[in-house]
Amino acid sequence: MDAASLWYRSYHAIPSSVTAPNGKRSGAIRGFFDGLSFLTGQFDATGMVCCLEGNWRPQWRLDLLPGYKVNRTLADGSEDTPEGLDEQVAAIEELLVALGIATASHPDFEADDVIATLVQRSEGPAAIVTGDRDLFQLVDDERDISVIYMGGGLAKSKRWDAAAVMEKYGVRPDQYRDFAVLRGDASDGLPGVKGIGEKGAATLLHAYGDLDDLVMIAHDAESTIPKRQRTALLEAEHYLAKAASVSTAITSVDIPDIDPTLPREPVEADQVESLVKEWGLANVIERLTTTMAKVRP
Ligand code: MN
Ligand code: MN
Repeated sequence: MDAASLWYRSYHAIPSSVTAPNGKRSGAIRGFFDGLSFLTGQFDATGMVCCLEGNWRPQWRLDLLPGYKVNRTLADGSEDTPEGLDEQVAAIEELLVALGIATASHPDFEADDVIATLVQRSEGPAAIVTGDRDLFQLVDDERDISVIYMGGGLAKSKRWDAAAVMEKYGVRPDQYRDFAVLRGDASDGLPGVKGIGEKGAATLLHAYGDLDDLVMIAHDAESTIPKRQRTALLEAEHYLAKAASVSTAITSVDIPDIDPTLPREPVEADQVESLVKEWGLANVIERLTTTMAKVRP
């Protein structure tokens, strides 16, 4: 579970008038835990790891590409989070621990990298729940690694295998990273290559395989790449190399082995009770524990 993906989605989907007994906005918390209940039931999850943003914008990615996620920062470089979200996120993280739902993070890496590392260790089947399209690069039919994509709304979430990625974007999952780099991704601050849109990126990758080969062939004046695209690729060569590294989800993050098994009952019942009271979550947490009990009777 790409946890930040779900709480951002919930924050924006639920009106600000939804508040806790303490008067604070609680839409993100309610939506987050209702989302976990829904997804657990809908996709028959038997285990889950909530992957957290240990570092939403790691320095090593910025060193490669200074514009990375720059549109989501404040003047001092910190994350521009919407009003009232931070304290809800703190409560969500406390609740996850008290419930006994596994979490994972690393202070130098994004949730993307933590997810990629866990996926790398998994024999499958496993599903990555996210609204972040970057993670399509991790889909692998052989081990039954899919993405449950929340980008179109939680209720419409569906499972994406390689055929689904191909149908939507015209590339294989292992080409998705190069595709995104060529096309660009405004939300991550990746400009893409001038004049090469989504269709052009897919066509080039279909014809030439991957970014390395594409750039190599672009250097050949006799190549069959249309001239305008060839020039644009050569002009963007520096960007392409850096952006490919930035967009690669790292599979070797130093995190411990994690048991994803869902808890039979909350591990810290008193702590759960006090957070439930503070934030007015009786029904929400009841629904979640009922769903989890069904999974692990
Ligand atoms: Mn992400
Ligand atoms: Mn990402």
